[in-house]
Amino acid sequence: MDYWKEILDQINKNHLKVDLDKIQLAFGFAEESHDGQYRKSGDDYIMHPVEVTKILIDMKMDTDTIVAGILHDIVEDTMITLADIRYNFGEAVADLVDGVTKLKELPNGTKKQDENIRKMIIAMAKNLRVIIIKLADRLHNMRTLRYMPPEKQKTIAQETIEIYAPLAHRLGIARIKWELEDLSLHYLKPEIYEEIKSLVDSRRGERKDYIDSFIRTIVKLIYDNGIKGTVRGRFKHFYSIYKKMYEKGKEFDDIYDLIGVRIIVATEAECYNALGIIHSNFKPVTGRFKDYIAVPKSNNYQSVHTTIVGPLGKFIEIQIRTEEMDKVAEEGIAAHWAYKENRNVSKDDKVYGWLKNILELQNETENAHDFVKTVTEDIMAETVFVFSPMGDIKELPNGATPLDFAFSVHTQIGCKCVGAKVNGKIVTLDYKLQNGDRVEIITSKNSKGPSKDWLDIVVTTSAKSKIKKILKDQIYGETVKAGRDNLEREVEKLGITLKDVEENPLIKKHMERNNIRTLDDFYFYVGQNRTKIDGILNKLREKLVKDLPMDNSQLEQLLEKTKERERAASARKNDFGIVIEGITNTLIKFARCCTPLPGDDIGGFVTRLDGITIHRRSCKNFQSMIAHDPAREIPVRWEDTPAGERTNTKYKFTFNVLVANVPNVLMEVVAVISGHKINIVSVNTSEVKEQGEMLINIRFTVEIKDKQEYGYMAKDISNVRNVISIDR
Ligand code: MN
Repeated sequence: MDYWKEILDQINKNHLKVDLDKIQLAFGFAEESHDGQYRKSGDDYIMHPVEVTKILIDMKMDTDTIVAGILHDIVEDTMITLADIRYNFGEAVADLVDGVTKLKELPNGTKKQDENIRKMIIAMAKNLRVIIIKLADRLHNMRTLRYMPPEKQKTIAQETIEIYAPLAHRLGIARIKWELEDLSLHYLKPEIYEEIKSLVDSRRGERKDYIDSFIRTIVKLIYDNGIKGTVRGRFKHFYSIYKKMYEKGKEFDDIYDLIGVRIIVATEAECYNALGIIHSNFKPVTGRFKDYIAVPKSNNYQSVHTTIVGPLGKFIEIQIRTEEMDKVAEEGIAAHWAYKENRNVSKDDKVYGWLKNILELQNETENAHDFVKTVTEDIMAETVFVFSPMGDIKELPNGATPLDFAFSVHTQIGCKCVGAKVNGKIVTLDYKLQNGDRVEIITSKNSKGPSKDWLDIVVTTSAKSKIKKILKDQIYGETVKAGRDNLEREVEKLGITLKDVEENPLIKKHMERNNIRTLDDFYFYVGQNRTKIDGILNKLREKLVKDLPMDNSQLEQLLEKTKERERAASARKNDFGIVIEGITNTLIKFARCCTPLPGDDIGGFVTRLDGITIHRRSCKNFQSMIAHDPAREIPVRWEDTPAGERTNTKYKFTFNVLVANVPNVLMEVVAVISGHKINIVSVNTSEVKEQGEMLINIRFTVEIKDKQEYGYMAKDISNVRNVISIDR
C-alpha cells in the first residue's frame, strides 16, 4: 500500500498549496514510528493517521494542521516525545499534537467523561485546529467502528452523537456532522437504520426522475435571465429522517416527499435575483422564506431559504447561495483556513464570541458536570432572531428570555431591567422569545438588580456568567456591611470608634498575618465570622484597660496637666469662641468626626492627652463616649458674641457632597464654594455604589465662620445640577 501516494493524490485533487517537503518528512517520521503497530482491523497502524490526514486535506487545512494530523497519535503510542516533534516540526505543530494527545479517548463513567469534555472544550477555545483534528480522528474511528467489540461500538457512537456531532454543527462543519450522525445511528439503532435505508432505496428511482426534471426547469429559468449557476438535488441524511419520524412523529412519505434543491450562483445579488425568478414562476409557501444572507447564523452559515409548490403539487425546499457561502456551510470554521495559509479566525467572529463566553464560564464553574451541561445545552440550542426597538437584530438561543436580550445589549441594561415589552405588550421576564419579536426592555434606576432566580430565567452563557459575577459582588458588599456594623456595635461599648480599631496596630498585624489586604476584606472576614470579633475585642480591651474609666481625682489631675501644658506652650487666649464653665485657657480641639460650627449644639469631652475635644451633641461618637464614661463630659457653649465680631475666627469644617458621575460637577461645586468666599482646605473624591449606580462622593474640608454661613452655601450647592445630596 503506497500511503504517501494517497496523501499526495488527495493534496493534488484539492489543489492545495502546502509545504510538501514538510508533510513528506512528517509522513516518513510517522511511518517509521508506528512500524510494527496494527489497527484492530489488521491494517498497518499508519493507515489511521493517513486517513485522518486525508480528511483534513479534504477540508483544505493548512500545512501545520496536516502535519499534526499525520503525527497525532505518535506521542501517545510510540517512543517519540513532544520535544522530538518540536525540534523537527516547530512549535505550532507540537502545540497541536499536544492538544490532541491531551484529549485522550473518553473513558466510561460520567464523572470522568465530563472532565474530558471540559478539557476538550477548553482546548478548542484555545486552538480550534486541535478540535478539527480531533473531529477528523473521530470520523475515521467511526468509519472503522465495525472492528470494535459491540459493547464499545455503542459507547463510542453514543458519545459521538452527544458530543462530537453537536461540536461539528456548532463549528459549522456540516459534512462531518452528517456523517457522524448517520454512522452513530447505524450503531445505536441498527433496525431503524436499516428500515430507513430500505425505504429510501425503494423510492430512489422515481424520486430521481422528479428531481432531475425540476432541476432542468430551474437551470433553464435562471440561464434565460442571465444568471450562471449550478443546481443540485439535496440528499436527505438518514439521521434527519430518523429524527423527523421518531421524534416528531411524521410519516416517512411526508418527509421524503419534501424535496430539496440547492442553487449555487456567483454573487450575492444573483442570489436575490434567482429567488425573484423562482418566486415569480412557482407559488411560495408563506412563512418559509428565511434570509440568512442578511442575518447569518451564529456558526456563520449564510443562504436564502424558501419553499415553493412544485410540479404535481409537491413542496420543494430551495436554498440559494454563493460558492463561498456554500464552502462555509459545508466546512464551517475550517473554511477559514482554506483560502490562505496560517490565517487566523477573526476575533470578531461570532464563533469566537461564543468560545470566549465559554472560557469565562469555565472560570466561574467549579463543577465539571454543570459546566459540560451548560455548554452542551448551548451547543444544541437552535437560535431565534429578535429585534430591538431601533430595528437592530440580535441572535439568541432558542428559549432565550427578555433578560437574555437585556444582558446581550449591555450589562447595565440587564442589571436595571424590571420588565419588558414584546411587540408592544408587557410580558413577564421569563417569556420565551419568538423569531421576529420586537423586544423593548424596561429599566429602572431603583431596580434591586439581579437575584438568584434570574439564573433560572436566562439561558445564554454570557448572561449567566454576568449575573453570577454581580451576585458575588453583592454578597461581598452585604457581608462587608454586616461585618462593619457588628464590629461597630461592639467597639462602641468599649468607648472607641471604628476608626480607632482600623488604626490600631493589633488589627494591622492581624491583617498582615492573615494576608488581608484591605479594610473591606477585613470587614468581609468579620462578616463571614472567619475573623472572630471576640478575639479582637479581648485584645483591644486589654490595651484599653488602663484608659477606663476615670474617677474624679484622676479627672482633676488630668485637667490640671492639660492646663499646665497649655500654659507652657503659649499663653494665647482662647480664640475659638468656646466657653468652658470654670476653665479658661485650656487646650481645645474640634472633633474631626463632626466638625462643629458656631450655632451647633455642642459638648466637650476630656481626653487623656489633647485637652478637651468639642463635638456636636448629636455626634454618634460623642454620645457613645459619654455613655461609657459620663465623668469625662464637660459642659461647653459658644461665646455669646455677635456674629460680626468673630470675623477673624474660622473653623475647619468637613462636609460631603454626593454627585452623579458626569463631567464638570466638581468644578461647578467648587465655583459655588469660592463664590461664597469660603476657603477650601482639601478635596477628596471617592466612588460609591448606590442601588447599583456609580456615584461620586466629594469630601470638602473648608474654613468657615459658622453654621449660618454653611447653611447658605449648602443651599446653593444643592441647586447645582447633578448634585444628589449634601451633608456634614
Ligand atoms: Mn487517532
